[in-house]
Amino acid sequence: MKRRRLKYKNILIAVIIVLVLTFSISLFTNKEVKMIDLKEKTIDEIKEYANKVNLKLEIKEEHHKEIKKGKLISQNIKVDSIITKGEQLTVVISLGRLGKDYYLKHKVDESGNIPIMMYHGIHNLKNDDTAYTGGNIDKDGYQRTAEAFRGDLEFYYDNNYRMIKLKDYIDRKIDVEVGKSPIILTFDDGLKNNIRIMGLDDKEELIIDPNSAIGILESFKKKYPDFNVTATFFLNGDLFEQPEYNEKILNWLIDNGYDIGNHSYSHLDFTKIKNKEVEQEVGKLYSLLDELIKNKYVNIVSLPFGSPYDVNHKNFSHILKSTYEGKTYETKSTLRVGWESELSPFHKNFDPLFLKRIRAYDNLGNNFDIIHNFKLLEENRYISDGDKDTIVIPSEKIDKIAEQTELEIIKY
Ligand SMILES: [Zn+2]
Repeated sequence: MKRRRLKYKNILIAVIIVLVLTFSISLFTNKEVKMIDLKEKTIDEIKEYANKVNLKLEIKEEHHKEIKKGKLISQNIKVDSIITKGEQLTVVISLGRLGKDYYLKHKVDESGNIPIMMYHGIHNLKNDDTAYTGGNIDKDGYQRTAEAFRGDLEFYYDNNYRMIKLKDYIDRKIDVEVGKSPIILTFDDGLKNNIRIMGLDDKEELIIDPNSAIGILESFKKKYPDFNVTATFFLNGDLFEQPEYNEKILNWLIDNGYDIGNHSYSHLDFTKIKNKEVEQEVGKLYSLLDELIKNKYVNIVSLPFGSPYDVNHKNFSHILKSTYEGKTYETKSTLRVGWESELSPFHKNFDPLFLKRIRAYDNLGNNFDIIHNFKLLEENRYISDGDKDTIVIPSEKIDKIAEQTELEIIKY
């Protein structure tokens, strides 16, 4: 009896040994290793870990606003996911906050001015075809050649200007690469040559004249993807003078990153008409846009003839807010026919209700033409820190900036 029990005991031990061995072997040969959270680890600990679990480690470094220098920003392998041997582990380690050296190197100044360019017609002509200087078609350069417009765009790009949307400027959302400056393009009057339609392709999509303003802008979009090509078009009642394509054109523009605003229904001078007519002029155009692109246009009015010249004019409040045929409208901002660049939206005197524009024309560097204005901007130009959530200002200019709560102000 005793002997038999002993035999059973031996068998049981043998079975246990076999089980333990099999389990251990399977652990060694087929072990699933799960990724750990590296957040609290030092670089040395990360290196050690990568070595232990057989990962190919790549370390990148970036500046970060909140994460302290030497701490982990991110890891490419998710916590708890199963690691395969030899897999690449990329970790991004913080270099800490951007410092004074970085801002100095890029000459960051977000208290500087921003140009809002005013265009009208772009004509498919060479500069030599006109009787005026620099591709101006009329004496004042309201109408320009396609060659001149292409030249302007090259000039802006080469001088480190990058486009932003007018509405984003008004909303104080400026997203421009570090060391670059924002520029805003606007077009008034909805001329056919802004987006001339040559027909529809076999998919019923618009064929746009490559020498119209939009055709040229689209070619720059391809040529310089970091230019962030965009513009706002201010229209009258006849929109782009191609009624058969009204809906298609407006939707195409919005879908392709452009904006549509209000230039009044029939382009009358707001100071020469009565309140009621002002309401009709503004309200009727908003209603037309509501019919075609509801909630997709911007509530900004470009003032015909830049008039009134004064926000205290008795008709001005009717442009901003009133009702037309029982419908209430509200205007966030108006555009003047100005001559020079506008203030940073963070400036304490920034007033989005009445914005100045630069007439985009040539006058041999005089009388506030493009060259003249951009020379002036060299003295006082908005230069981005590349972070839309911070306002970075040289210490000596800090008193230019409005106090505020939404964004962090950094002086250096
Ligand atoms: Zn106009």
